[in-house]
Amino acid sequence: MKYFDASDEKKIPGRSIGPGERFNFHCHAGLACFNQCCRNLNLLLYPYDVLRLRRHLKITSDKFIDHYVDIVLRPGHHFPEVLLRMSDQPGQPCCFSTAQGCRVYEDRPHTCRLFPVEQGARMEAVEGYATPVYFFRPPEFCQGSSEDFAQTIDEYLKDQEAEEYYPLTLAWAQLRRLFATDPWGLEGPQGAKAKMAFMAAYNIDRFREFVFQSSFLKRYHVAPATVKKVKRSDEALLKFGFEWIRVFVWGQSSKEIRVRR
Ligand code: SF4
Ligand code: SF4
Repeated sequence: MKYFDASDEKKIPGRSIGPGERFNFHCHAGLACFNQCCRNLNLLLYPYDVLRLRRHLKITSDKFIDHYVDIVLRPGHHFPEVLLRMSDQPGQPCCFSTAQGCRVYEDRPHTCRLFPVEQGARMEAVEGYATPVYFFRPPEFCQGSSEDFAQTIDEYLKDQEAEEYYPLTLAWAQLRRLFATDPWGLEGPQGAKAKMAFMAAYNIDRFREFVFQSSFLKRYHVAPATVKKVKRSDEALLKFGFEWIRVFVWGQSSKEIRVRR
C-alpha cells in the first residue's frame, strides 16, 4: 500500500478508480493467463499478511519467516522489506502457486487479493487520517479486464474479502512512513533495538512471548482491558505491537502503553 501526500497522487501509475465508478475485471481459472501473475514477483508482505499466512499454514511465525520470506534492507533504508519468497522452479513461481491456483487462497496477502488493483492511502490534513484510493493497472498479459463483468471498487473489495485487511495495513503504512528518518543512531538498522521492532511487527509469536513471559508488564503499564484483549486476539496483539514500536523506537506518548517510572 502506498501512503502518500495528496500532491503526489498524480504520479501514481494506473487508472484511478473513484467511489461508485465501475470497472471491468473478472479473474477465473478458465483464462489463458491463469497463474501467470503468481510468478517472479517482488511481493511485499505486510505484518497482517504474515499473521494470516502463518495461521493458515499452522506454523509459528519463526518458521514462516525462515521458510517463506526474504528480508531485504535496501541501501539508505532504515527498516527492512519483507518479500514473499519465490520458488527456484523455472519461471520462479510463488511458493504457494499450484496448477489449481493459490494454495493459501483464503489467507492470501492483501496485494494478491486486490491485484491488479493497487490500493493507496492519501494522507489528509488531520494527522492520522487517510482516504483509501485505488488504481487499476493490469499487466499486458492479464486478460481479466476483457471479461464482460463490471463492478464498483466496493463490490470488488467485498468479493475479495479485502476490507478486513485495510485497517492493519494502513496502520502499518503510517508507522512505516516514520522510518523515512533514521531512528537507530550508532546501533544502526541491524542493532538490538531494530530487531525488537522487527519482531513486534513480523514475528507475532515471539512478540507474544516477549509481552507475557518477560518483564515487559513490569516495565510498561498497560491497561488491564488491553492486556486481556491482546491475550485473546492475534490482531489486537499486532495492533498493540505497532503502538509499542511508536513508544519504544520513537518515544511517542500512548494512551495504552506507559513506561513505569
Ligand atoms: S500468495 Fe497466492 S495469490 Fe499471491 S502470488 Fe502466491 S500463489 Fe499467487
Ligand atoms: S493475469 Fe489477471 S486475469 Fe490472469 S490470473 Fe492473473 S489476475 Fe487473473
